[in-house]
Amino acid sequence: MKILLITPFSKYNSIRWIPLGVSYIASLLIKNRHIVKLYDRSLKGCCTGDKESVNKDMKSEILRFKPDIIGFSTVSPVIYDALECIDYIREFFDGIIIAGGHHATAMPELTLKKISGLDFVAAGEAEYTVLSLANGDKPSGIPGLFSRNTDASGFKNYQIKALDRLPFPEYRIFDMHYYTGANRSSLRGFYLKTACILSSRGCPNNCKFCSESLTYGKGIRFHSADYVVENIKKLIIDYKVEGLYFHDNNFLSSYSHAENVCEKIISNNLHKKIKWGIQAGTTRVDDDILKLLSKAGCVKIEFGMESIRDNDLKNMNKNATKGSNETALVLCKKHKIMAHSYFMTGFEGEKISDLNSTLAWIKRFKPHTFSLHPLKIYPGTELYETSGNKFFENNKWDRDSIEKYFNTEHFRNIDSEEKKKWYLEVYKPFSARYHRKALLNANSLPSLFRMIWIKYFSKRHY
Ligand code: SF4
Repeated sequence: MKILLITPFSKYNSIRWIPLGVSYIASLLIKNRHIVKLYDRSLKGCCTGDKESVNKDMKSEILRFKPDIIGFSTVSPVIYDALECIDYIREFFDGIIIAGGHHATAMPELTLKKISGLDFVAAGEAEYTVLSLANGDKPSGIPGLFSRNTDASGFKNYQIKALDRLPFPEYRIFDMHYYTGANRSSLRGFYLKTACILSSRGCPNNCKFCSESLTYGKGIRFHSADYVVENIKKLIIDYKVEGLYFHDNNFLSSYSHAENVCEKIISNNLHKKIKWGIQAGTTRVDDDILKLLSKAGCVKIEFGMESIRDNDLKNMNKNATKGSNETALVLCKKHKIMAHSYFMTGFEGEKISDLNSTLAWIKRFKPHTFSLHPLKIYPGTELYETSGNKFFENNKWDRDSIEKYFNTEHFRNIDSEEKKKWYLEVYKPFSARYHRKALLNANSLPSLFRMIWIKYFSKRHY
């Protein structure tokens, strides 16, 4: 069969992470002799910013390729794009349309109800579900496939047990010139040709706001170190990458897995060819593992610290404390691994003085880079259930409503004008100064020259 995969439209994307979910679906389909193409609305959107011309171009592509199945990846903040796009495609396409990803997995029944042109949802990890559909299996017997006739009460999302049975991600369907183009965001602060990779799926924790672990679920599963290293070699040989970002929710959730990967990287001499970064929980770092990570070429660890107040961390069921956040930064410094601290804003009872304390804390503990994101309430999360707003059930999935919902601070304590003023007058200049310094610390002079050259003098259009 012919399958066209489509990513959601996005006008701006500073971090060039390859959509790994799509790449794995494509690779399994191709291995099983199906013909796969990608229409990357996300990348086209970044290049043109013009949705109408992207839609026209997509239509021509669909009419030319004549797919049997169209697959959409969905995320909640732009679910209106899937809805608009599927309505539009239904005007000239009568094949199968299926949606997967975080949003469709979180609410399969409602997604089918709201998006009338959609036939199925692939809930959870979609590789084998989409393959069975493409192979022509009877929909009612396909694990993870949700249709309008599915009984939601006994339904289970699909989870892949043996990850190594999956072929390597299919990179050829992407514009790898873009996705591995040198940039300073993919491996925060390091200006490198960077690709992303997965060595495990799932997360053992239950943070109340987390939508990240919805698709992969709770049971954590691992690729073997051999699989990971072969995947890295492929990226170095085929795409000349200089940096790697492990997309695992917590690379250190199993020490033995992390040790095996590090040792294989070292024994294959890859630590001399690439710099790499991971995400990890602050309670999982210690001297032994950091020493090995550093030896294996790990230069960056991103920590979801969220807050410097224990009360916020406890309320969000974060498996961390202010103390573990501080210790993690001290240990990283000792082992010369740079750290990124993710923080959230918009916790219950937050005051401007709390925001200033966070900046003072950053100055004191000096993560290499940091970011501050508003707390958002995604469907499928515990926070969504307990907040009781049932936004997606009770509202239209149009752009205005969805954008308004995701721009709302649900536990707002600070007046929005006061917060905007703080953001513009305090946070923004602080962050700009801080990250300029971080860039100088992490990159060699030739690398900085390359960055300036590409930004100001080359004809690269993204
Ligand atoms: S540790 Fe990260 S991935 Fe795991 S539940 Fe918490 S926020 Fe989600």
